[in-house]
Amino acid sequence: MTIAFHPDIATLMAFSAGSLEEPYAVVVSTHIAMCEACREQVKRTDLIGGALLAAEPKAAMSDGALDRLTAALDAADVAPVPVAPSSTVPAPVARYLPDGIDGIRWRFSGPGVAVADLPSSKTAKGRLMLLKVAAGRKVPEHSHGGQELTLILRGAYRDRFGVFATGDIADHDEDVEHQPIAEPGEDCICLVAVDAKLSFRSRLVRTLQPLFGL
Ligand SMILES: [Zn+2]
Repeated sequence: MTIAFHPDIATLMAFSAGSLEEPYAVVVSTHIAMCEACREQVKRTDLIGGALLAAEPKAAMSDGALDRLTAALDAADVAPVPVAPSSTVPAPVARYLPDGIDGIRWRFSGPGVAVADLPSSKTAKGRLMLLKVAAGRKVPEHSHGGQELTLILRGAYRDRFGVFATGDIADHDEDVEHQPIAEPGEDCICLVAVDAKLSFRSRLVRTLQPLFGL
């Protein structure tokens, strides 16, 4: 699997610090299960965070401390993340899908588009859901009320940023407007965390939004 798109470094650092809301943390940990580069990055971020916490607030870094930290980073082994057997999705999201990706109960959400909400804890801010876009179909053009993290689990889509395929993550904030189109040949299934309703450009789509549950 060749992964071209990763979370922003700020998102990975927030994940490492444990400050991401649950829906986002599930998406990031699922990506990390699929992406060796981000596993390494999070490992480094964890170690740097730990070293900063351990350092005396006013103490100057002793001679060789940086060398020792670098050596520790190089020596850190990255444990492989288990992938659930009998499932085509990695463990972090598999526990939300007891019947696997083919057992999802989809809800119609517009022509060619279906969604399925995944339960997160009651205190979690934001929403975790699966989005399925039929091969060759469009998601209406939209911007975001907040951060939107989208991980491709199956198939691929294309927007003005490029082609996003299995394992790729799109990390967008409220300034981004885009219109994903599923690539032909296979339905595109994504794991999505949003912290606010999507805002659609088309007035018709905005009117129908409550009906479609977007
Ligand atoms: Zn990555």
